Amino acid sequence: MKTFLVALFAAVLSCAAAAQQPDFKVTLLGTGSPPPVLKRFGPAVLVQAGKETLLIDCGRGCTQRLAQAGVKLGAIDALFITHLHSDHVVGIPDLWLTGWLDSPFGTRTQPLQVWGPAGTRSMMENMQKTFQWDVDTRVADQNLSRSAAGINATEMAAGVVYERNGVRVSAIEVDHGELIKPAFGFRIDYDGRSVVISGDTRFSENLIKHAAGVDLLVHQVAMAKEELLAKSERVRTILAHHTKPPEAGTVFARAKPKLAVYYHISLQGDPTVPAPTEKDVEDATRSTYAGPLVLGEDMMVFVIGKDGVTKQ
Ligand SMILES: [Zn+2]
Ligand SMILES: [Zn+2]
Repeated sequence: MKTFLVALFAAVLSCAAAAQQPDFKVTLLGTGSPPPVLKRFGPAVLVQAGKETLLIDCGRGCTQRLAQAGVKLGAIDALFITHLHSDHVVGIPDLWLTGWLDSPFGTRTQPLQVWGPAGTRSMMENMQKTFQWDVDTRVADQNLSRSAAGINATEMAAGVVYERNGVRVSAIEVDHGELIKPAFGFRIDYDGRSVVISGDTRFSENLIKHAAGVDLLVHQVAMAKEELLAKSERVRTILAHHTKPPEAGTVFARAKPKLAVYYHISLQGDPTVPAPTEKDVEDATRSTYAGPLVLGEDMMVFVIGKDGVTKQ
């Protein structure tokens, strides 16, 4: 009887733990863009849905943020790249090679699985050539697995690109400029819930279409003061490739996510004209959108539950 009661108690406890454990979680690992600042690391979003651990982009500092989130580098099932601009891919060699080490933070037993736009395969092949000395040496010297040191790269078109354990990843073509084609956002669906991550894009009708009614919409934003735009060709060019707050507000107002979140927050300034503040971004967004909005920060976690999205 006593044994039975202990077993019953243990079963109740494990059920309670399972009930509390969110099964669809989105962590903003990096909410920045190219500037090398400590506050916002390079763009990277961790999506944990059911049994799948997925990474969208791998910008600067992605591995440190994964460690902060308590996720082993080797535990990433698949990496999806929005486009090949360096701020979105510069963390890949670190994820790939450090994740391969047999230390507790690594332990990847399979090649790194990567999906990306045209050009991804070539980038991954060249990356392997660049680091061939390290792989050859560690295989010979530390007896590490050569097959696990590989990278399997798949170049994708728009549509469903991955389906496993009830998790579906779809690539959405977005508009990041004439010379950056294709560029993608991603939609991840699991158990009737969903998140869309914009990647880098100008105002995109196609993104609105695929984000309609999504639970969580993570969107990039870029802003500069009018004085700076008037005098800086460089800043005008940057903003012409990205979405400004009132445009992003229109995306949110039409897609109607349960929660809208900014990441890849690019606030342009120079020594004479200060960058806009986060309050400026919010105020400018409010000119077109009145719904729920969060300005993302590194390591913010969102749980997509059956009753809505909560920020942890
Ligand atoms: Zn970018
Ligand atoms: Zn870009």
